[in-house]
Amino acid sequence: MKQTATDIIVERLQQGGFRDTATRRAILDVFQKRVKPVSAPELSEFLSEKGFWPNKTTVYRELAFLRDQEILHEVQFMDGTRRYEMASETHHHHLVCVDCDAVEEVVVREDLEQEEKRLARAKRFKILNHSLEFYGICGKCQLSR
Ligand SMILES: [Zn+2]
Ligand SMILES: [Zn+2]
Repeated sequence: MKQTATDIIVERLQQGGFRDTATRRAILDVFQKRVKPVSAPELSEFLSEKGFWPNKTTVYRELAFLRDQEILHEVQFMDGTRRYEMASETHHHHLVCVDCDAVEEVVVREDLEQEEKRLARAKRFKILNHSLEFYGICGKCQLSR
């Protein structure tokens, strides 16, 4: 049987001594299929569609756990809601459409990384991370305006 991306993650967690649960697998499956970052309430909805009804606390705990394991990455857009996506190899940013809520991942060229280094030096500030999202109107929405 072919190993799915979820199998690989679960296996890695098991090696770290963490349990393999049906809920965790269902959550990971949701994230494998989503292109847009997902909030906790949205995740609960997707899970219920698959016949899983974990309580709110379990959902938040799982999200925090998977984030701490660096399997998920937390993103916060302008509305302040915490959303999660699969942590990807490449550092990226998002284009967020304020009309239809479409979210696209984009990579910003090296100028930004250089600016980060410059700021860190100039301010003697040890930068650990940064988050940068762009808000606007996507191509599709521009056409229908
Ligand atoms: Zn960046
Ligand atoms: Zn749009």
